[in-house]
Amino acid sequence: MKWKIETTGESYQHELEDVVRAFEPFASLSPEGEAVSAVVTAEGTVAETNIKCKNYPTISRKYEIQNSDSPLLVKRQLKRFLKRDFYDFLSAALNRTLSYGSLTGIRPTKLFYELLEEGKDPEKELVEYFRVSEEKARLVRTIVDTQKGTYATETEKYDFFVNIPFCPSRCHYCSFLSEVINPKKGNLPLYVDALIRDIRCAVPKKPRRAIYVGGGTPTSLSPELLDRVLEAIDAKGEEFTVEAGRPETLTEEKIAVMNRRGVTRVSVNPQTFKQETLDLIGRRHSVEDIYRAYRAVRDGGAFDVNMDFITMLPGETFEDFKYSLDQAIDLAPENITVHSLSIKRGSVFAEQKYDNFSDRTAEKMSSYALETLEKAGYSPYYMYRQKNTTGRLENVGYAKKGKICKYNVDIMEETHDVYASGAGAISKRIFGDGLIRRLAEVKEIKGYLERIGEIIDKKIEFFKG
Ligand code: SF4
Repeated sequence: MKWKIETTGESYQHELEDVVRAFEPFASLSPEGEAVSAVVTAEGTVAETNIKCKNYPTISRKYEIQNSDSPLLVKRQLKRFLKRDFYDFLSAALNRTLSYGSLTGIRPTKLFYELLEEGKDPEKELVEYFRVSEEKARLVRTIVDTQKGTYATETEKYDFFVNIPFCPSRCHYCSFLSEVINPKKGNLPLYVDALIRDIRCAVPKKPRRAIYVGGGTPTSLSPELLDRVLEAIDAKGEEFTVEAGRPETLTEEKIAVMNRRGVTRVSVNPQTFKQETLDLIGRRHSVEDIYRAYRAVRDGGAFDVNMDFITMLPGETFEDFKYSLDQAIDLAPENITVHSLSIKRGSVFAEQKYDNFSDRTAEKMSSYALETLEKAGYSPYYMYRQKNTTGRLENVGYAKKGKICKYNVDIMEETHDVYASGAGAISKRIFGDGLIRRLAEVKEIKGYLERIGEIIDKKIEFFKG
């Protein structure tokens, strides 16, 4: 069903459009769509919403505004009132509900922490006010519980991110600007040279909390180049993750390099244990490669291991997903991350107009993951949601007791400064009152190499003081 939103006064056009998109493919935006007017007005401590559309019952509700002397808090409340009532309107018109109700554009855990600060019962509020399902509200609460002792601790320290945007081939769902490794091109040593300058140029004069080398597939580098990067990082016993996303890139030599340079956590990402799917999504490795890589990492050092999976991959049924997850649980990695397939612009799937929509199957997979992983001793410890996922579901990281990856929590909750190096990396400085400053590096590898001097100057300036 197509909709056209008309709003006046304090305009929340984008937020309302996001609510329509959350209902895709059952709702979409169109200039020819059914006109719906959605307005919120405020007078003193009273707010009123009005959602009107010719062929549907009007929703009009009054609310009391709290903290009416704070423009920021008033705005936050007005937006919540309007979005929630607009969600109710669409939900009734389409006769559908969404697992995350009216939540769009905000991380559920961030909202949970905000509601806690407001003195509310966040789990209850998520269900009763925001229309989040009980299962998802419990998930968010469990994540916040698991984060205790990690969330916003050691904020005097900073996190360190290094980007290696190279991969052995391109996965069909990938929209990152990672380059397919081409030994003939010879730009890898040049990239590593520039990256090492970037890593060392403006290191903050305070302790480091966690290191994360991601990409791309950092283990696409040769053992020598990988060693140079890890040496430059100069770990001193901090949590230290290296993503070895593609199992076929892991060799005993590279694992030995990681061990020697203080890596503590390695991500080996199967995505699925079904060969047919691996072939379909452009992974170009075998199921056997996953087992081999896992064994090699276990034999090569005392690393914690993470394994990533994706729900709703092409052609996969609930049984396929269940099989993959069960295999992973048998292997017993310390962390398992379950992503919802997101079809992003720029990916092969988006170009192919890939469609594997089934919100019910997606929900079933996501619920199975939560239930089964909890039974197997894992707790969900961080989450985020992306657009363009079936059923607008979430990505969740699960960890065995005491095995939380601090870096993942810090990044999702935006609690720590981040010193980030490499093409497309984004450094962050966190100030009080929710102010966050960001510095993004040039995304394309060619531009990064050409402008490294300028990038370094900006970075020194950014981390001054
Ligand atoms: S391994 Fe990751 S970064 Fe590389 S192509 Fe696949 S999804 Fe993209």
